[in-house]
Amino acid sequence: MNTAFTDGRVFIGNGKVIEGATVLVENDKIASIQKTNKDLPDDTRIIPIGNDTLFPGFIDCHVHLVMDCSPDPLTSVSGQSDTITVIKSVNNAWQTLKGGVTTVRDMGGMNGIDLDLKQAIETGLIQGPRMRVAGKLICMTGGHGWPIGREADGPDDVRRAAREQIKAGADLIKLMATGGVLTPSVQPGSAQLTYEELKAGVEEAHKAEKKTGTHAMGSDGILNALKAGIDSIEHGIYLTDEIIAIMKEKHVFYIPTIAALFNIETNGVPAGIPAWAVEKSLAVAPHHRNSIKQAHKAGVPIAMGTDAGTPFNFHGKNRIEIPLLVRHGLSPMEALIAATKTASQVLGMENEIGTIEVQKKADLVLVKGNPIDDIDILFKPDVIVQVMKDGQLIEQIAE
Ligand SMILES: [Zn+2]
Repeated sequence: MNTAFTDGRVFIGNGKVIEGATVLVENDKIASIQKTNKDLPDDTRIIPIGNDTLFPGFIDCHVHLVMDCSPDPLTSVSGQSDTITVIKSVNNAWQTLKGGVTTVRDMGGMNGIDLDLKQAIETGLIQGPRMRVAGKLICMTGGHGWPIGREADGPDDVRRAAREQIKAGADLIKLMATGGVLTPSVQPGSAQLTYEELKAGVEEAHKAEKKTGTHAMGSDGILNALKAGIDSIEHGIYLTDEIIAIMKEKHVFYIPTIAALFNIETNGVPAGIPAWAVEKSLAVAPHHRNSIKQAHKAGVPIAMGTDAGTPFNFHGKNRIEIPLLVRHGLSPMEALIAATKTASQVLGMENEIGTIEVQKKADLVLVKGNPIDDIDILFKPDVIVQVMKDGQLIEQIAE
C-alpha cells in the first residue's frame, strides 16, 4: 500500500526544510517529495501533516536495550534471569520505536540477547527499531562495564574478544578505553584498555569491515583510542585542544550522550541512584559541558546518542538528547541533523537512512508542532504523532 504525508513542513535532514510538501511512500521506500498532492496513486493512504513536522526517523547511536533504566542498571541486569532481561528488552525496543527512533546502535548487550533481539525485529516477530549491535562490550578485567562485558587482557586477548563478537554476528566493536560512572571503584578519568589493546581490537574490526566505538571519558584514554584508529568517541568528558584537532582532522564522530549524565543529575540519590555514581557524575559534568561546546565550535561531527538504559534514561524518551544538544551550543537545525543525517553516517548507513530523499528507506516520524522553532517541545510527552519504519506505519501511538 502507498502512503502519503501531505501538505506540510518536511525536514529533509540536509539543512533544508520544505513547506507545503507531500512525501509519497511506495512499499518500503520514499518514492517522491513534491510540492503538490495531486497525481497520487488511487489507493494512497493520506496522512495530512497539518501544523506538525515530518522528520527522517530519529537515530540513536548509543543505547543499551538490555538495560532497564533502574537506579543501578548494571547491578540489576547482572542479577536477574535472562528471561526477565529478554522480556524487558522486548518492551524497551517497542518503546524506542514508538518514541520516534527507527534505528539504534546498541553499544553493549548481554548473553547474546541484543543479537537475538535484532533478529526478532528483522524477522517481524516483535516490533522495534532497526538495530546495529556491538554484542558484548570489551573491557579490561574489572574495567568499566565488566558486569555485562567480555573482560580481556593483553592485545591477543582483546583480538580474540573482538573476533568472538564478529563471529557471533556483531555489527561493530565497542572497546572500553577509560573508567566510567556506573561501575563502582573505577574512575572516569583513568585509562583502561591500553593503546596496544585498543589497536588490536580496532584492527580486527576494520579487517572485518566493521566500525568501532569507544567508551572514553578521560583524555589519556581518548588519545589512546584515537591513535588506535577508533571511529567514534562516546561520552568524551575531558576533551583537549589536541584531541579536538585530531577528531576534526580524522573525522572521528563525537557522541556526547548528554542524556545519561542529565538524568543522573536531575534524579540523584533521592531516586535511589548510588551515591558514588551521582558524585562521579556531578564531578565530571562541568568538563563535559565545556568539551561539547569546544568540539562543536571546532567543527567536530557530533551525533545523537543517549546511553538509554542508564538510570532514568528511558527507552522511548531518546529525543530529549536533541534539546540537550541545543543547550550545549548546537542550533536546533544542527541538533536535529545530529539525530538524523550525522547519526546515519556514524552507522555507515547514510545511503539508506538519515534524510528524506527519494529511494531511501521510508523511516519517517511526524512530530507535533515545529521543533525547529521550538526545540523544547521534544522534552514534552505525547509529541510523536506517527512513526513509520520501512514503510510500515506504527498504529495507535500512545505514551
Ligand atoms: Zn553506554
